[in-house]
Amino acid sequence: MADKANKVPLNVEGPYYVDDQCITCRLCTTDAPANFKMADDESTAYVYKQPENDAEKEACEEALDTCPVDAIGNDG
Ligand code: SF4
Repeated sequence: MADKANKVPLNVEGPYYVDDQCITCRLCTTDAPANFKMADDESTAYVYKQPENDAEKEACEEALDTCPVDAIGNDG
């Protein structure tokens, strides 16, 4: 389970976040490209925009469910 105490600093404010367990598999950037992207140095994925509609929320939930190391959290 993701831990909000270990959010990566790049995440924007809001309910969804990536924590420091990310293994850079990129699945979330495919599942929810409107909300997740890779850091410029590829060291981690992060949430660059919180979901703004139902489709984006659904995509973020899918990313949360499919992340292989449970590095995505929703504390909303
Ligand atoms: S799905 Fe999880 S492990 Fe893969 S890039 Fe996204 S946060 Fe990182």
